[in-house]
Amino acid sequence: MENFDICIVGASIAGNYLAYLLSKSDMKILVLEEHKDIGLPFQCAGIISQKLAQLIQLPEEIVLNRVNTAKLVNPLGNFIKLSGKEHPYIVDRIALDRLFYEKNKNATNITYYLDERLRSFKYGIENGQKCVLIETSKRFINIKDFPMSSMVP
Ligand SMILES: Cc1cc2nc3c(=O)[nH]c(=O)nc-3n(C[C@H](O)[C@H](O)[C@H](O)COP(=O)(O)OP(=O)(O)OC[C@H]3O[C@@H](n4cnc5c(N)ncnc54)[C@H](O)[C@@H]3O)c2cc1C
Repeated sequence: MENFDICIVGASIAGNYLAYLLSKSDMKILVLEEHKDIGLPFQCAGIISQKLAQLIQLPEEIVLNRVNTAKLVNPLGNFIKLSGKEHPYIVDRIALDRLFYEKNKNATNITYYLDERLRSFKYGIENGQKCVLIETSKRFINIKDFPMSSMVP
């Protein structure tokens, strides 16, 4: 059975960014993504705040636009208009999801399993060590437990 220190479920913006932050550690990281293409299916309008843009050092090439106002329309056609000092970015959301994946994919301590779904997990003991046993659509994986975890054997 394969062993990892961390398993991140979902190779979208949060999962890929977390893997990126952890890539400098000596932990062995697995990222599981049920879709075979990162960023797809495309399901987001791509509006992001200045705060997020600063946090992830958003590259200009994936910025499509910046806006001053937003009009939120419900299915009945009623709408509200929002405006303020924020000037959010409209980004290419697929490119955003791929941004940190591209940085991570050659990291020696990160493994991506795409087209592979997390099915279940359970706590267990392996070689006397507490662990999390994960079942994906393709395999079983052993994730190390950490001393501070609240896991009960
Ligand atoms: C129509 C729409 C428009 C939106 N517009 C905006 C917007 O303009 N601005 C904004 O800030 N937010 C918007 N959002 C919300 C935004 O998309 C989410 O907040 C954001 O994508 C969350 O990122 P995430 O990485 O946490 O999760 P997600 O982007 O939801 O990614 C989760 C990932 O986990 C994978 N996954 C899930 N379960 C499993 C499993 N069991 N095994 C393996 N992989 C799994 C999924 O395939 C997916 O890739 C919008 C959402 C929708 C639906």
